[in-house]
Amino acid sequence: MHSKRKNIIKSSVRSSIEKLLEQARKAASKSPERSKRYVDMAFDLMKKNKVKLPKELRNSFCRKCHVIWIPGKTMTAYYDRKNDCLRVKCRCGATKRL
Ligand SMILES: [Zn+2]
Repeated sequence: MHSKRKNIIKSSVRSSIEKLLEQARKAASKSPERSKRYVDMAFDLMKKNKVKLPKELRNSFCRKCHVIWIPGKTMTAYYDRKNDCLRVKCRCGATKRL
């Protein structure tokens, strides 16, 4: 029973995170500050509840500067020949393997 309850909490946390990231994406062009705050909140929820996000969500913002990633705007994707993988480079300089 206990773990089932936990799962319900986690899935509702996950959907809140999804919503926050969606709002962050919408706010990104008009108000970057607000957008960043949404990502802050999403990241906070993620850490506090130790939820695992699906890959698309995990790769949709920067863990360092909390900016929502918009291809060509706040991040660029490139092929990393050395490690034979795709990488994302955030505008803050952080890179992440995809
Ligand atoms: Zn960054």
